[in-house]
Amino acid sequence: MIQVRDLVKSFEGFRALDGLNITVPKGAVYGLVGPNGAGKSTVIRHLAGIYRQDSGEILIDGQPVYENPAVKSRLAYIPDDIFYYTQASIRDMMHFYRELYPTFNEDVFESLGQIFQLNPKRMMRRLSKGQQKQAAFWLALSLRPEVVILDEPVDGLDPVMRRQVWSLLLSDVAERGTTVLVSSHNLRELEDVCDHVGIMDHGKMLLERSLSELQDNIVKIQLAYADGGQLPEDLEILHRSATGRLQQLILRGTAEELSGKLRATDPLFLDVVPLSLEEIFIYELGGAGHEVQNILL
Ligand code: ADP
Ligand code: MG
Repeated sequence: MIQVRDLVKSFEGFRALDGLNITVPKGAVYGLVGPNGAGKSTVIRHLAGIYRQDSGEILIDGQPVYENPAVKSRLAYIPDDIFYYTQASIRDMMHFYRELYPTFNEDVFESLGQIFQLNPKRMMRRLSKGQQKQAAFWLALSLRPEVVILDEPVDGLDPVMRRQVWSLLLSDVAERGTTVLVSSHNLRELEDVCDHVGIMDHGKMLLERSLSELQDNIVKIQLAYADGGQLPEDLEILHRSATGRLQQLILRGTAEELSGKLRATDPLFLDVVPLSLEEIFIYELGGAGHEVQNILL
């Protein structure tokens, strides 16, 4: 579990983080989303124990991170700009990590090698940017970390490798309850992988929700009535559009409750359609949703 409380960090008088709060439950895949300059990398560097805050708290399982090797050894961090010792090969880095992290698992490293298909003897600096990212994932997953922190991780990865990396990470989450925090400037990019979303801007959290919390209380329904058919009166309609007989409704409520109620009005056709994260934000947040949409999609 990751907790950031009232975090403030200034650079030469500029408040990059301005009382930021984040709560990431254990086993969550948390998307930290915000436009460029929002402060994502800055808070992530605090979580990784690189920066020291001006004020506020950064806790992992209740323990402060800064200068706390016991906590840091349980987390893997992949920065946005990966830095490796230029003369090191992937295998050298593996030896280095093995010394540093008591949980490093060489069997996992060997078996992941078949997936990443990089030659471990290759010098880090001879790899392309995307290959360096792959190597970073390879090493990070071999640490068997409890917490994985990724700063804009998919930049530079091709779509096939992107899917591969996410499927490895998500199976780690499913099998071991790994907690993942991943940043992106693009909400859509995280839509399929995250179960929690925090939207930040100007060093503050704008809203933080679990996807189930968001999805449980908003429903998209398509339905059609024969002539004279009518919607019940007591619906909370957030949005309504129609093509011929086919109506599309965004409603407040649960899918069970609403489909039951609507079926009772005897429609010709009724279907509950999943909402995209984008739609949830727009309808849930009204005007603020459009602002979010403009900066994040
Ligand atoms: P994001 O990762 O969301 O794009 P950053 O956390 O990198 O944003 O930056 C947040 C703000 O803090 C930006 O305005 C950036 O210019 C500023 N900033 C970040 N790091 C430093 C630094 N080391 N020195 C001065 N300003 C910084
Ligand atoms: Mg950044």
